[in-house]
Amino acid sequence: MELYTKTISECQSLIRNGQISSVELTRSVLGRIASLNERLGAYITVTGDTAFRQAEEADKIIRSQPVENLPPLMGIPVAVKDNMCTEGVRTTCASALLDDFVPPYESTVTGRLAAEGYVLLGKTNMDEFAMGSSNETSAFYSVKNPWNTEMAPGGSSGGSAVAVAADACIGALGSDTGGSIRQPAALCGVVGLKPTYGRVSRYGLVAFASSLDQIGPLAKTVKDAAILLQAIAGPDTNDSTCAPFEVPDFTSSLGRDIKGIKVGIPKQYFIEGMHPRVEDSVKKAINQLESLGAKAVEVDLPHTDYAVSTYYILATSEASSNLARFDGVRFGVRRQKESDLMDMYTTTRSAGFGPEVKRRIMLGTYALSSGYYDAYYLKAQQVRTLIKQDFEHAFNSVDIMACPTTPAPAFRLGEKLDDPLQMYLNDIFTISANLAGLPGISVPCGFTDDNLPVGLQLLGRPFDEENLLMVAHAYEQSTDWHKIKPKLLDI
Ligand code: GLN
Repeated sequence: MELYTKTISECQSLIRNGQISSVELTRSVLGRIASLNERLGAYITVTGDTAFRQAEEADKIIRSQPVENLPPLMGIPVAVKDNMCTEGVRTTCASALLDDFVPPYESTVTGRLAAEGYVLLGKTNMDEFAMGSSNETSAFYSVKNPWNTEMAPGGSSGGSAVAVAADACIGALGSDTGGSIRQPAALCGVVGLKPTYGRVSRYGLVAFASSLDQIGPLAKTVKDAAILLQAIAGPDTNDSTCAPFEVPDFTSSLGRDIKGIKVGIPKQYFIEGMHPRVEDSVKKAINQLESLGAKAVEVDLPHTDYAVSTYYILATSEASSNLARFDGVRFGVRRQKESDLMDMYTTTRSAGFGPEVKRRIMLGTYALSSGYYDAYYLKAQQVRTLIKQDFEHAFNSVDIMACPTTPAPAFRLGEKLDDPLQMYLNDIFTISANLAGLPGISVPCGFTDDNLPVGLQLLGRPFDEENLLMVAHAYEQSTDWHKIKPKLLDI
């Protein structure tokens, strides 16, 4: 078996036993990236030279230290979504506007991975400023789904999901504002975890919608997701929205019995028109949880119908404010031919932003404008509270919830690009967790007749990633879905 196919936990033991070096592992993964990236478009920037330097550095430490002193990610090659600042490494947010942006500082998450001795493979492709569900809004190139390259990988962390699915990294980071980790994870057949709002620092994450954004792992297994979360979670004085809570040991709950766990099945998450094989696979997964001793009970989330409209008002409003900084003064390409300040703003923003980002800025500015604020933004905030209360109420009687991650499997590239509403509807099952601040995970749970992956979504109580990971791991280990890989040689 090629080294690039390994999981984080497998690489950890191979490195610790002295069977492989980080340089060998890094060479294997970089070779894989070189052979696939043109076809799949998962990376915007590949940092080959620095990766080798970091791997050599890791190998020195590995040789000189007792194994028990080594941090979990020492020498492990990881891919990072291109909206997290990496000092000295170009960070574009897949936007023409930030084409030449090289951050002068490191995001907290990548700083924490670096402190553990990880190897940065490069920065992954995404929807521009993380706005999208198919990765097609990237200013550079679309990402292709490795299960069928005519299909979208999902978005906005599509590059990270594809890198994991195609073994073009060992693990990856993504960000999730309305499903951008879980939805591409489901469409690409990998594990994707959105932690609780406040669990992981966003310092150095380019903000899209600050009341919703969270960083989290995309990985080959639930255990790998737990290892990555462990490395990045926890309080940060640089981010006041990061909760001052101690971080539990996420891997220690894996392998525990899930007998007696109460799993809520939200009845609004099985809707008319959803793909029959998605419905079928998720229902089978719920039966599987029951056969492991969990108790499934129906729960009611009555305001689910309003989630998509609520999200698209709040997310666009926050985006219109967050993206005001890209005006050519400090951030954004300046063309040097502008006649005055206004001209500079307009030129930078007209040329720099793509159509979806412009649409969001206009929608959000409209929703926030005086005269419409009460009818849209304020109303959406009120409905957000109702959605949050639905979950609080339901979590009084269950420990966890199980439902589909998406209503349908991967769709064709181009299919929804001219119909934003159809694109937005793809987020119907992922958005509510962001509105309510809850942790959620997608794990592979089957395939359609066309061999496209299906994802099971589990949602947890705030700051209860432990139970979420425990149940996800128990399910995963009792099935073989996560072991099936796309046949890349056939594409
Ligand atoms: N698809 C959603 C959107 O376009 C979610 C994006 C995200 O989570 N970053 O807003």
